[in-house]
Amino acid sequence: MSRDEQARLVLTAHPLQRVGTYAVAALARRRRPEDVDAGAFAEVEGVLREDAVRSALVRDTKRDFWLKCSFSVFPNSPMAHPSNGKKDDETIRSAVRRWRTMPDPTGWPDADCVLCGRQAVEFFGKVDVPLAESDIYRNTTPRGHDGMALCWPCVVCFYALPYGCRLTGGPLTALHSWHDAFLGGTTARRVGHNRQSFTLGGSPRDKTVDSEVVALWELRRYGEPIRSGVELLVFTNNNRGQALTIESMEQPLAEWLRRTMRSPQLKRGFKALLGAHWTPRQTAAVGLARNAFREPARILGAAARLLAERGERGVIPDYTADLAELCRSFAIEVMSMNPKDMTEIQATAARVATVLGTQESGGRLKEFYATLKEPARMRHWLMRRGVDWALVGPKDADGPLMTSRAMELLFDPDPDIQAWLNRQMLLVAVLEELHTRGWRPKDGAQVAEELAEEHGAEGLQALEEEVEAR
Ligand SMILES: [Zn+2]
Repeated sequence: MSRDEQARLVLTAHPLQRVGTYAVAALARRRRPEDVDAGAFAEVEGVLREDAVRSALVRDTKRDFWLKCSFSVFPNSPMAHPSNGKKDDETIRSAVRRWRTMPDPTGWPDADCVLCGRQAVEFFGKVDVPLAESDIYRNTTPRGHDGMALCWPCVVCFYALPYGCRLTGGPLTALHSWHDAFLGGTTARRVGHNRQSFTLGGSPRDKTVDSEVVALWELRRYGEPIRSGVELLVFTNNNRGQALTIESMEQPLAEWLRRTMRSPQLKRGFKALLGAHWTPRQTAAVGLARNAFREPARILGAAARLLAERGERGVIPDYTADLAELCRSFAIEVMSMNPKDMTEIQATAARVATVLGTQESGGRLKEFYATLKEPARMRHWLMRRGVDWALVGPKDADGPLMTSRAMELLFDPDPDIQAWLNRQMLLVAVLEELHTRGWRPKDGAQVAEELAEEHGAEGLQALEEEVEAR
């Protein structure tokens, strides 16, 4: 294989290698890895090498953030060797430079790069590559084995990887997506951000922010539809323990969040949704971001719970219709709810709202909310109102309170029906109806509690300011 080939970037199926590849492209100030020619590649090798030399010579992790990070990525390397404190500058400088220089072709092994299939230049161990083990990526080197056979460009991508990660001094987070343009843009921004702080010698401003929230920022700022999901790979290669955890967000949710966060029309509903995720222990943005990665169904649950809690105090907040609109689009686009089923739920909700709207007091409404946690009670409650509806319901009623399809949607245990989701949507839709009709219980709270809006506004501001600042 020619030397030129050892200076050409190739994207592989390894997410961390991909992040590293885009980090090299960003350091070379090219948008795409294929635009990095041999000259630009050599320039990046120089940057990576000399950054490592500069930090290694500081010898003190308290005074150099990049050196501190390197202990989590390249432990025991000439850059982060515990014995560096006792060595003179020249010894460290030449050891780091040798480490970051392509091995001589005469010593190349008879092996292909395990990632891209080109000629390998050496077997690499955890000094060079994060060897974390997980169910998906088994990078550990078997006992007695020389390590991973890699070509030089793939190794250089791993040297550049931390530049494209969120750095904390401890575990690193790589934000990955198979949507190349998104990955390229987000990695390039991260590289710029990190290099700026390396140059200033300090640590990045956002090192204490949750990595899930960082993913929200990146989605919010992306101007095009996102065509793949996003993954957060949190890893450390530290001597005290290697680890890799992966959190994923599926494409429909990533795209829904991106679009919702950017839409001026949906702002009010989104603020309420953020507010619904606030607790005394976590900010609104952290709550939403964690649900998005760990348990998306809870996003709708948080919205329904917020409305239910307000309702228990006899309050139908002003943001009800906006939040309900978001819940509907979430149910259809993210939870794959059939729009025909949604129509059925809404028609049912309109009839239930008619029943509740004849009441002056909020007692019945509270009763209804209270059944959300217990399907059997909700079913019983609806059956009883159904009997009243048939006997003394509106004269122009053209059917029962609950159709057989509505019963099925709300209470069928078949997991494909997602009855729990439909019940939450019913509650949200009933409130939206009551809100539209201007119904207010006479015994409702005198002062409306709008804490959710305040916390939501706070959360939104934090997201927007961060996007502006970066
Ligand atoms: Zn390779």
